[in-house]
Order: sequence, then C-alpha cells, then structure tokens
Amino acid sequence: MVSTESERRVAARFATFDQDGNGYIDRADFSSAAKTLLTEFGTTARCDKGQALYNGAEAFWQGMAGIADRDGDQRITRDEFVHGAVKRLRDNPDRFAEIARPFLQAALAVADADADGAATVQETARVLRCLGIAGDAADSVAAALDGDRDGRVTESEVVTAFARYFTVPE
Ligand code: CA
Ligand code: CA
Repeated sequence: MVSTESERRVAARFATFDQDGNGYIDRADFSSAAKTLLTEFGTTARCDKGQALYNGAEAFWQGMAGIADRDGDQRITRDEFVHGAVKRLRDNPDRFAEIARPFLQAALAVADADADGAATVQETARVLRCLGIAGDAADSVAAALDGDRDGRVTESEVVTAFARYFTVPE
C-alpha cells in the first residue's frame, strides 16, 4: 500500500529529472538542464566550465541509466524510476552522491560568479529555478542547503542534501 504522500514525493522527484516533462527521463533532460544553466549564467558551452557541466550531465545520465534503465532503451520510465532508481539509491546513497557530484560541482562553478569556491544562496536559488523548482521554494531550499548559515553553498552541502532528498526513506 503506497500512501498519497509517498506517491506525491516520488512524482516530484521524477519531475525534477524529467526536465522536459515528456514522461520519461533520458539524456536530453540532462543536456537541456545543462543548457538552461549556461544560458542563465551567461556561460558558453565551449569554455572549461561549460564543458565540465556537459560532461557532468552526461556522467549523471549514464549513472542513472546504469541504475534504473532496466530494459536498456535509453529511457527511464516512471515505473523504472520508482522500482529501480528510488530503491537502489535509497540502499546506496553514497553511490548516488558519486554519480551526481560532477554535475553538481560543475553547476555550482557556473553559478559562482566570484569564483571563491562556493555559490551564494541567491546564486544557488537561480540554479534551482533553472532545474524547475518554483520561485519561492527555490529560495527556501537554497537557504536550507546552506547548512552552516554562512551565506555560501558548498559542493559538499549540495551533494549531501541532494542525495538525502532522493534517498531518505518515506
Ligand atoms: Ca524527459
Ligand atoms: Ca527504460
């Protein structure tokens, strides 16, 4: 028996990955997220930061496909996501952090205008909005990501929070 709350959460997690909302997660969702981020922060795809972001997006997709794409058709359906990804990521949060880290690290680097090694809470909220998190929620999530409340969001704070979001039991 699956609770409504649990279904709602899984649906929200699926929607975060299904950036174009066509009902399945594939490589295009990851590359479009990278493209949206580069546009938002006025960064070209050809520079080092742009390349790192696309490479991170590809690695993230490959990692997710390896975990969840059971029939190997290069698409993760909602069913594959629920029965493959959610369970396996929950069983192994470290693995999830590992596959997400290069993308998250590159996204923060794109957002980090003064290149001091961390994005501000405001920059982080812009990243979250690019990934489809609604305006007000993006602000509060970004603030929550800043675990030590110093106004800066570091890679480890983001990776830890992201892994927790996808892997904490209902
Ligand atoms: Ca999609
Ligand atoms: Ca599939």
